[in-house]
Amino acid sequence: MTPQAVFELLQRQRDTFHSGATRSVAARRALLDRLDAAIRRHEAALFAALKEDLGKSEFEAYTSEVGLVYKEIKHARKRLARWSRPRRVRTDLHNWPGSSRLYPEPYGVCLIIAPWNYPVQLLLSPLVGAVAAGNTAVVKPSEVSAATASVLQAMFDDCFEPVTVASVCGDAEFTSRLLDEPWDKIFFTGSVPVGRIVMEKAARRLTPVTLELGGKSPVIVDRSANLGYTARKIVWGKYLNAGQTCVAPDYLLVEGADRAAELVALMRATITDFYGGDPLAAEEGSRIINERHFQRLNAMLRDEAPIFGGRSDPARRRIEPTIVFPADPAHPSMADEIFGPILPVIPRDSFDDCVAFARERPKPLAAYLFSESRANQDRFLAEVPCGGGGINTVVLHVASTHLPFGGVGPSGLGSYHGKASFDAFTHWKGILRQSSRLELKVAYPGREPSLSAVRKLMG
Ligand code: NAD
Repeated sequence: MTPQAVFELLQRQRDTFHSGATRSVAARRALLDRLDAAIRRHEAALFAALKEDLGKSEFEAYTSEVGLVYKEIKHARKRLARWSRPRRVRTDLHNWPGSSRLYPEPYGVCLIIAPWNYPVQLLLSPLVGAVAAGNTAVVKPSEVSAATASVLQAMFDDCFEPVTVASVCGDAEFTSRLLDEPWDKIFFTGSVPVGRIVMEKAARRLTPVTLELGGKSPVIVDRSANLGYTARKIVWGKYLNAGQTCVAPDYLLVEGADRAAELVALMRATITDFYGGDPLAAEEGSRIINERHFQRLNAMLRDEAPIFGGRSDPARRRIEPTIVFPADPAHPSMADEIFGPILPVIPRDSFDDCVAFARERPKPLAAYLFSESRANQDRFLAEVPCGGGGINTVVLHVASTHLPFGGVGPSGLGSYHGKASFDAFTHWKGILRQSSRLELKVAYPGREPSLSAVRKLMG
């Protein structure tokens, strides 16, 4: 698509927005219904594409991709009339007589940019928020998950008027040019370096942004944790989608070397239980998205550190569930977000050490604690900053329509899911309404009350 064509698309969407066609609750519901029907009609093709791009099984494609979008649509559809109502708030005495309300105003023409790891869900869930809030939208799937991008493109071409909702495909350079256009809101999901580019470009026009980024999400396991349970939860959350999950446990901090060894033994047994004795030989299994990432991950395993697993199959771009233990904080896997099926386990002497280790690093997208101690749970909540996370669980907070999901600082800006998605695409404008029939003239020049009376009123 040429820059001129993008510009024209944006102008046409702006015309649609200004016509009010997307604003009524009925219109928003109709668009949500249309999205739901479009996904259902293309579901089989999306499953096939997700298998081709990432080796996702149908079960995983449903539970972690389209099923979550259906849930978001259903949730928003049911509540959006309530969400869209102006909210009455109190009016300060000095503004009397009058009334104060918050009015939800859709931003206008929105750009949604998605990554490749959950290429359906991370494109369509934000779109649910954009549409529910009354915006028009242009979505840009990741070119890296190419098969899925092409099904999504066909789905949008089939089911939507581009003047309301359109999909455009392209690489980094194309996306970079997209960012130069005058969007009213940009919603970006992807890596920290590209998030920085998005924010810089948005800053030039002061365009509001939501940034859903990544980072190294720690898991702390204290002495009181139920290790069998912990092993199963972590193995599930870490190796889902071959570790290519933004909120996957990135590394483990375990209180006590003896407990760390015990947990690693349990995780190895769990890997065998979940994926069989030879995970690489299994017919089904998630794969690494491309050669570059496959090489990047294998390079982390050339270190001397003891490794469990670590074999890979270049032909199918698969790496078996791998644990590095005991991992040194200087191990190559500890440099950046791993985003693959490699799990460093770092023993620490005390719970204090674990907390300090996590806290000294950039604020992560997620942090997790496994503990039976209420005191340690409270300390974790008070002392470990993160976008979100879980206690005695991993990853699942992302699947909630009631918990706003997002990062903080380097892991992101803003949040979405459920009502938070509606708010991410809405400006709540505060309006004070007064009446010409009840005019208090005391603030006008020459009629002011004494300053001491005003002080009493305003504090
Ligand atoms: P990425 O940042 O490389 O790409 C994301 C999108 O940005 C793609 O659509 C791509 O075309 C575009 N893009 C790439 N380079 C660009 C550039 N120079 N200028 C403009 N646009 C550009 O991310 P990825 O590799 O697709 O995804 C992996 C990353 O995303 C990980 O860091 C992961 O943690 C993060 N992530 C975050 C979440 C979340 O919800 N917070 C979810 C999934 C993935």
